[in-house]
Amino acid sequence: MIKTTILYGKVVADSIKEKLSHEIAELLNQNIVPKLAAIIVGNDPASEIYVNSKHKTFQKFNCNSEVYKFESDIKDLELIDFIEKLNKDKTVHGILVQLPLPKRINSEKVLNSINPNKDVDGFHPVNMGLLLKGNPCYVPCTPLGCIEILKYYKINIKSKHIVIVGRSNIVGKPLMNLLSGKYDIGNATVTICHTGTKDISQFTKIADIIIAAVGKPNLINKTMIKEGVDIIDVGINRVPDNSKKGYKIVGDVDCDDVIGKANSITPVPGGVGPMTITMLLYNTIKSAKNII
Ligand code: NAP
Repeated sequence: MIKTTILYGKVVADSIKEKLSHEIAELLNQNIVPKLAAIIVGNDPASEIYVNSKHKTFQKFNCNSEVYKFESDIKDLELIDFIEKLNKDKTVHGILVQLPLPKRINSEKVLNSINPNKDVDGFHPVNMGLLLKGNPCYVPCTPLGCIEILKYYKINIKSKHIVIVGRSNIVGKPLMNLLSGKYDIGNATVTICHTGTKDISQFTKIADIIIAAVGKPNLINKTMIKEGVDIIDVGINRVPDNSKKGYKIVGDVDCDDVIGKANSITPVPGGVGPMTITMLLYNTIKSAKNII
């Protein structure tokens, strides 16, 4: 049995926020107040919770944050016109559109209307293209958070075999580019699995590091990993239980099952989750400092 280290995200997030608070103080001294403009469309309760916690974090760090709420029947063009105004507003450093947007809205067109220099979520094709080429850009917050966890806990990546399960544009694909790139924190050999993969365990069993970003509770268990693997679990899944809430949050990896076989694992909740908003703050400060 191996002693499995639990990779808590909060300590990583706190250490980054500590550094950011000094950078924010310097910006405030120059009369620059970093500002995030968050757009939310419709009444999705999960989206409201996410936007509120982003808003509160920005306020706590003496940054400005404005939430713009629109009814779900807003026309695409109205939304795009509004984003154009935010693009021109010099006091706004970061713009985010909380996803998912209602199905009738063309999300792609809306996201593409954000000025790439204010695209602190890193979802604009310009930023995705720059990331692919290894050029400076805004990196999506969750993948950036995963990299920071690996860095903080000194998990060596170079020349390792990393298996990412999930190929979404917001998690799996950016991670694939970051980890396989010729960076200090990179230079790994990356395999990416998805629904087209015949048997993901064939790959997870030979991985030095597994990153699961799927959205399927407990998809990965101890029979699918090799001893000593490091695991980053991005998944957030609600599963019914007997608690007051009627559910609990679990990851894509069966954490209890892999303890004793994995070298380390991020818990869910408490692993990657706390990193995402921190990296949004990081990207917005980067924009306010105009260093892209
Ligand atoms: P997504 O867009 O739904 O993508 C899921 C990916 O997993 C897809 O590439 C899909 O393959 C693949 N997949 C689905 N079932 C699979 C299976 N049985 N075997 C192998 N691959 C499978 O999801 P996402 O936005 O990347 O999010 C993934 C998870 O991370 C979700 O639980 C989400 O809530 C969580 N998340 C957490 C944070 C955070 O802050 N911690 C942030 C973002 C997301 P195909 O491409 O073939 O469909």
